[in-house]
Amino acid sequence: MDDATRRELTAWLEFYQELGIEGFYRREPVAEGRPPTLEAAQPAPPKAASPPKQVPSPAPIRGATLPASLKPAAPPLASPVAIRPPTPSFSLFEAAPAPRSGPERLEQIRQDLGDCRRCKLAPTRKTIVFGEGNPHAELVFIGEGPGADEDEQGLPFVGRAGKLLNRMMETVGLKRADVYICNVIKCRPPGNRTPEKDEVDACSPFLFRQIETIEPRLICCLGAPAVRTVLGIKEGITKIRGQFYTFGAAKALATVHPAYVLRNPREEKILREDFEKIRDFLTHKEYDNPANWDKGVIR
Ligand code: SF4
Repeated sequence: MDDATRRELTAWLEFYQELGIEGFYRREPVAEGRPPTLEAAQPAPPKAASPPKQVPSPAPIRGATLPASLKPAAPPLASPVAIRPPTPSFSLFEAAPAPRSGPERLEQIRQDLGDCRRCKLAPTRKTIVFGEGNPHAELVFIGEGPGADEDEQGLPFVGRAGKLLNRMMETVGLKRADVYICNVIKCRPPGNRTPEKDEVDACSPFLFRQIETIEPRLICCLGAPAVRTVLGIKEGITKIRGQFYTFGAAKALATVHPAYVLRNPREEKILREDFEKIRDFLTHKEYDNPANWDKGVIR
């Protein structure tokens, strides 16, 4: 930078400081075709706010030609709010990195859900059943929706079906505290009926955010509504159960809902078989490599 430019810059920086603006950053040049990086977009940390001051216009610098990006907007400004650093083509705040995983982010999703009234299940529910478990779980179970016990307690899978789920986990050496459990919809449908499309459409974005945040290795869809919502597969659950599907960087296994086994106790062997597949998947890290997905280890 030559002396003349340095003097011009110094004068304008002093002007901005008089306005109470002291956080400046230099925008890194961005290679053509590449999105700006977060590092380049990060503003300097703001200082404690000072009351706005009425300030004079900066003393003109004879012969100075200020770079366009540093010129304040005309007419002359009286409030610091009206002056901004050169505006990048994206929002600094939208670009701010959010934690990729962990309880804070799940908490954020829960906060966004709030006292949800997005579908017609809101008036009849007692409690929103958001989900429960390890926010870094390798395995996420997704059921259909809360039943009466879940609605009372605000926790997923705590009734008879939940007890069967716990027992199945124990048979393959899994602990409930190690996994994450949630449902396609978060409020109990009247009479435990199957969730309707508009309810699933309203609620499932929160489910997908939960999955995205947890980043599990394996998703286990319990029953047809979960398979339909997560995998978009409409075939009957008894036809497709026991099979692995790809879901982003994770795998998904479809199996029957424990409530189905409670109604058809002879089908418990189905659930047992599928839980053994879950155990095999989780204990073989090589299954994470997509190159192995077509080699018969996952069918
Ligand atoms: S089911 Fe989901 S979308 Fe509907 S009210 Fe409950 S939380 Fe909201």
